[in-house]
Amino acid sequence: MSEEIFDADQAIGFLKISRPTFARWLKSGKLQGFKVGKQWRFYRRDLVSFMESSGTDFVLLKKDFKESIKFFEEKLEKKGILDREERDAVSNVITSSDEKELLVKILAERLFLDSFTDKASDIHLEPLKDGLMVKYRIKGYVEDIKLLSPETGEELIIRLKHMADLEPDITEKVQSGKIMIETDKIIKGDNRFDVKLGIIPVIYGERLTMRIKSMEKAKAAVDQGLELLQFGKEDLEKVKEIFNKPFGLVIVTGTSGSGKTTTCHGALNYILKKTAGHANIMSLEESIEYPMKGISQIQVQPDGEGYYELLKGIMWHDPDVIFVGDVSDSKTARMISEIALTGHLIIVQLTSPDIFQSVDYLKNLGLEPYLLASILEGAISQRLVRKICEKCKEKFTPSTHVIEKYFSGHEHVSLYRGKGCSECHNSGYKGRTGIYETGIFDTELKEAIADGEDINKLKKVFQEKGFRSLREKAIDYVLSGVTTLEEALRVSY
Ligand SMILES: [Zn+2]
Repeated sequence: MSEEIFDADQAIGFLKISRPTFARWLKSGKLQGFKVGKQWRFYRRDLVSFMESSGTDFVLLKKDFKESIKFFEEKLEKKGILDREERDAVSNVITSSDEKELLVKILAERLFLDSFTDKASDIHLEPLKDGLMVKYRIKGYVEDIKLLSPETGEELIIRLKHMADLEPDITEKVQSGKIMIETDKIIKGDNRFDVKLGIIPVIYGERLTMRIKSMEKAKAAVDQGLELLQFGKEDLEKVKEIFNKPFGLVIVTGTSGSGKTTTCHGALNYILKKTAGHANIMSLEESIEYPMKGISQIQVQPDGEGYYELLKGIMWHDPDVIFVGDVSDSKTARMISEIALTGHLIIVQLTSPDIFQSVDYLKNLGLEPYLLASILEGAISQRLVRKICEKCKEKFTPSTHVIEKYFSGHEHVSLYRGKGCSECHNSGYKGRTGIYETGIFDTELKEAIADGEDINKLKKVFQEKGFRSLREKAIDYVLSGVTTLEEALRVSY
């Protein structure tokens, strides 16, 4: 009888282990194989005897999983999230032949539950020489939570990749994905979490960062419309005026992570409420983060002509207000200008540092200045700044050099900073708030745009009309003790 021979993939399937574990065992000589050319081959009998003789590896691996699960379950029990009965139920389940898969699944669940209840904003999985370090970012501060063994860590990463629909075998590439998690526990009024996951290869393997967002909480803020978005009173009036425009183009811009999507969603809800649901609002987004009642949200494929094709398609559906998540090509830009000219309000989200550069960006996409001037009604640019911790806030007098450079015209400048305390994990900051610059395009500003004025000239015209830039707004926040000078300089320029 001829001997059954497996190639590497078949052997991995047969042994039910991960590729990296397989490679490590092969390299260390634990696993017997032979080479045909450059390809590894394995006799079935060798694999079977390996499984029998080094059953200890599997036992050890299982022990390791169980120990890791126990670590998270004990934490959860202490927090009152899990009771002993539930823990026992879990350990009793583990009898099937797919034991390992089940264990990894439980480990991932426990890890998420633990991080959510610790109110972590991010989970970091960092490969070290001796294993995978689990870290949480809590209140802005990264903490080591648990070192998993290399094998357990590898299996966990494979599990997470599966959950995010990523290819587990790809290990040398930057990847990103998304995991939606519904827990059977209500954690701080929420049981749905949106986890964005990024993977990057580093020296000892793959590093994962997972950003956690509580869906209900984010949704609550959006549902309130604009009121909860922390606009100052003056800004709120202007922003409302912008979104009250019956037609034309409105730009919402900012650097990435500046909270502009939240502003856009808040605006759509504001319009929905204001029109008592009588407006037909359609939203084109690449990733639909929160479902919004009364608004048709359409998923856009990020590459290709997704926005353009959909914009062509939705006009037939008689929209009053259209939100466009991004504009990156001239075809889409032209389509937007046509829609704005025909009596619709179109809100466009762009990633650029300020209002002027977003106008410039649309010009570079081929919109003629006169056309832009005729459709542009309003623009908002924003940033998020960290707020000084109220518990450890202290006043200090900056150097004369700093005063001259940033606060010229002010006498007796006092600034604030956080000394660092347990409340803010010694960071001196707690919470964040938005800063906004707003522009409403009246006849004079439209003329300046139509004349094709450059950014500096445009800025000047704006300033003459009382426009205040993000930098100026940020400096206001510094003087009123909301944030530090460093933070203001970091987010505005
Ligand atoms: Zn503090």
